[in-house]
Amino acid sequence: MTHHVILGAGPAGVIAAETLRKHAPADTITLVGDEPDAPYSRMAIPYLLIGNIEEQGTYLRKSATHFDDLRITQVKAKVTRVDAAGKTVHLDNGQSMAFDKLLIATGSQPVRPPIAGMDLPGVHPCWTLEDARAIQALAKPGARVLQMGAGFIGCIIMEALAARGVKLSVVEMGDRMVPRMMGPVAGGMIRDWCEAKGVQVFTGTKVEAISQGAGSEKGLLGKLASAVGLGSDEAGGPLQVRLSNGQTVEADLVISATGVRPAIGFLKDSGITCLQGVLTDQHLQTNVPGIYAAGDCAEAFDMVSGKTIVSAIQPNAAEQARVAALNMLGQKTELKGVTQINVLDTLGLISTSFGNWEGVADGQSAVLTDKAAGRHLSLQFKDDVMIGCNSVGWTEHVGVMRGLVEGQVRLGDWKDRLMHDPTKLVDAYLDCAQGQGRWSGAQDARRR
Ligand SMILES: Cc1cc2nc3c(=O)[nH]c(=O)nc-3n(C[C@H](O)[C@H](O)[C@H](O)COP(=O)(O)OP(=O)(O)OC[C@H]3O[C@@H](n4cnc5c(N)ncnc54)[C@H](O)[C@@H]3O)c2cc1C
Repeated sequence: MTHHVILGAGPAGVIAAETLRKHAPADTITLVGDEPDAPYSRMAIPYLLIGNIEEQGTYLRKSATHFDDLRITQVKAKVTRVDAAGKTVHLDNGQSMAFDKLLIATGSQPVRPPIAGMDLPGVHPCWTLEDARAIQALAKPGARVLQMGAGFIGCIIMEALAARGVKLSVVEMGDRMVPRMMGPVAGGMIRDWCEAKGVQVFTGTKVEAISQGAGSEKGLLGKLASAVGLGSDEAGGPLQVRLSNGQTVEADLVISATGVRPAIGFLKDSGITCLQGVLTDQHLQTNVPGIYAAGDCAEAFDMVSGKTIVSAIQPNAAEQARVAALNMLGQKTELKGVTQINVLDTLGLISTSFGNWEGVADGQSAVLTDKAAGRHLSLQFKDDVMIGCNSVGWTEHVGVMRGLVEGQVRLGDWKDRLMHDPTKLVDAYLDCAQGQGRWSGAQDARRR
């Protein structure tokens, strides 16, 4: 009987465990996770912050006995080391566990910028349920919230913070908002939109240091309060956030959303090859036979760019987990590839970034911008294939853009027609995808 051990109880770990159970009723499955809560979806945290759902609403599976019913053993512990040759994982509770097949699905973790004051009470990332609880306690209506970082996750959180009625400032060190997903025009339009909604946006600006209460009246009161034994967060007064533009912004809460990186430190010296993430082949297997990786921690092949990437979005995590699990069972299955697929809702403004949105040196591009109408389209081509795109305000074309980029649809003459009129995307997709036997995909794409 095979023992499958899965490290990480997020969406990738859970889907892998369920897939294994479905196809291998007799195997032993152990799911190791270091968070105290039931397996949950980080994607649901914004809805929790808005107040649309309770904490239970973030849980990936609603029945309290779901994993027991499937005979999936859950172990709450942190993995500290993997002995690949000895087929053993070591846990922070002192125990070790032997495995036959191993899946690494430990996700990613927030990058902590090297800034003085990051340890102060009132400074939090927004990554876990525990972080969400801390943010809920501080982001009360009227509270001054400063968010460091305006990337993909940062923009998603803004929506939730705005809904809580806080006074929001955003500091992004890139020259525009969402700089790793959007070009200058799209990033600028998102910024204008946010400012029109009352958010103070600083781009090209760094947070240099965070201190508490220094020099302010509340700071002095805070010092007195700590002298009489009050807790530091009650005592310290507002946070003073010093920016590289010379300004200091006062805040009751600072949220750090400065990016994430794969949570794979425990693989050091394991013999498992890691680049940015755990390097996998098309079967999600690492360089060590029998050891696989999936989700935010995995570096898998991106068919659009032709490189391996860490994609760090949930649909890719789920698909990688499914494919990895089948391969763990000996059912040879290939990952079709991961593509950068990002649809972002920033305070109600929908923008997208698919595939190679920056284009390639020997490619061509078509750009259409109507700032007054809040619309922007930037399409990137290589030969007659649309390899990537950016859009702002084109909600009705989202599925088609994805279909064209992900499906690597050959556009033929339609490439030149799109160069003249990028708005003809739907017609181009239906015509070309149908001809290439992708009709059902087209219908799916239109529905999305
Ligand atoms: C606020 C927010 C909003 C988001 N919104 C979207 C969105 O709209 N769309 C989208 O596609 N994606 C979104 N994401 C990203 C999405 O949540 C991730 O892509 C997804 O969670 C990846 O799943 P995973 O299972 O690979 O990793 P994770 O969900 O991170 O799960 C990994 C688990 O492994 C655990 N772990 C880590 N190290 C160890 C260890 N050493 N030992 C044991 N356990 C360990 C972690 O604590 C965690 O529980 C969002 C993320 C956040 C934070």
